[in-house]
Formats: sequence, structure tokens, C-alpha cells
Amino acid sequence: MTKSSTPLLQVCNVSKHYLEGDIATEVLTNVDLVVNASEQLAIVGTSGSGKSTLLHLMGTLDTPSAGKILLDGEDLHQLSATRQAQIRNQDLGFIYQFHHLLPEFSALENVSMPGLIQGLDKKQVHQQARDLLERVGLGHRIEHTPAQLSGGERQRVAIARALINQPKLVLADEPTGNLDASSGDAVYGLIRELSQQLGTAFVVVTHDYKLAARMDRQLTMKDGKLQQAEDNVMEIVS
Ligand code: ADP
Ligand code: MG
Repeated sequence: MTKSSTPLLQVCNVSKHYLEGDIATEVLTNVDLVVNASEQLAIVGTSGSGKSTLLHLMGTLDTPSAGKILLDGEDLHQLSATRQAQIRNQDLGFIYQFHHLLPEFSALENVSMPGLIQGLDKKQVHQQARDLLERVGLGHRIEHTPAQLSGGERQRVAIARALINQPKLVLADEPTGNLDASSGDAVYGLIRELSQQLGTAFVVVTHDYKLAARMDRQLTMKDGKLQQAEDNVMEIVS
């Protein structure tokens, strides 16, 4: 198979349970999913349905109990820790519910960090970081530390940080959770631009049905599986 015909992300028969003492909690049951380059996928579902768990597995932050996940044909959970770390840094972008910004660093430094870790030229990385911060509406806050920013501003810094290395796939957990409508629109604008211009794919877990409805495809996490989102869910906003 040539590389171009390989789907970007393949989730194959993945199950996940957590053990607490002797009791196993089954969270994901035989999940299958294919995401292609430049595709925008929204995952909705009630709290506790396993959405974050699935994102963590895709991001090598947790390990499936069964099944496998391939990124560009590489079986993520069979790779060395070093290769996994390299993939997390270069091929994946993460936007978490809680932003995990480094408190002692400025917005500019936080956004630049993944580029500097990759060993790219500092001046160039800073320029790209500035550009991204401007695009998320924070051009006037680049020297602020996380404590000097509002919740929504911190979230936008985290979004810029996820994009600095031009990842193939962005995994986002509630990226617009703390944002007002116009910042939310800006975030979607950025998603669309990157998927069109750079072929970046997005898997976005969200309760924001307006954001979900704008994505290419919507799935619901229910009973441990990904299911077609019900039409009426999407009609609410259309
Ligand atoms: P969602 O993101 O859809 O709200 P999660 O993926 O965070 O849901 O959690 C799904 C279920 O898995 C929940 O019932 C949660 O309590 C359980 N769970 C998540 N992480 C762990 C863990 N580390 N240990 C035990 N149970 C967990
Ligand atoms: Mg969650």
C-alpha cells in the first residue's frame, strides 16, 4: 500500500476498561474509526461516556486494553517510548480541557515550547508563535503569563501551542468550552483554514453543538461505541 492511500488514523477494534480492585469498568467496547487527512470530526456524547478516554488512547497518553491504533500506518502502542514522544511532539497537537500551560512562562514561550523541543530555530519559532497568537486574537497578550490571562485566553494560548509544529492530527477536548461566541468562531475559522491549507485533521470532543455541526462529520459516543450522531442533535443549531 502506498503511503497516500493509508488513512491518517485507524482505530481498530479498540476496547478499554479500568480496573479498580477486582471490578473492571468497561469504558470503550470494540471502537472502530477511520480519520483521513484534512478531515474534521466532532465527537459528542454525555459526560462519562468515554470521549476523553478515546482521545487519550489516540494520543498515546493511555494504552488500549484490546485493539490497536495506527497513525500513518504506525501501530502507536507498539512503538518505543522515544518514538511515541516524537510523534506526540511532531505529528499530534493536543488541546486539553485543562490547558496545562507552564505557569512561569509567557504566552509566547508556552506556544513556542513544542517547536523548541523539536530543535527548530528559536527566532523562526517565535515568529510563528506570534502569528498564531495573533490569529487567535491574543496579539496583545504575548508577554502575559497564564496567571495574567483569563480562562478563555489561556484556552486560546493552548490552541496556538497545539498548532505550532503543524501536526498531522489535532486532538481537542472541549476546545471552545470557556470561549464566548466570537472566540469560538475564531477557533473554528482556524480549524477550517488549517485543514484546507495544511491538510491537518481534527478530532474534536465537544458539547458545543454549533461547533460540532460545522465540522465535516459528527459521531456520538454511547454505550462504549461511536455511533452516528442523531439528526435531531444537529438540527438544533442548523
Ligand atoms: P467523558 O470524557 O466522555 O466525559 P471519560 O473518558 O473521561 O468520559 O470517562 C469515561 C469513564 O471512564 C467514566 O466513567 C470515568 O469515571 C472512567 N474513567 C476514566 N478514567 C479513569 C481511570 N483512570 N480510572 C478509572 N476509571 C476511569
Ligand atoms: Mg471528557
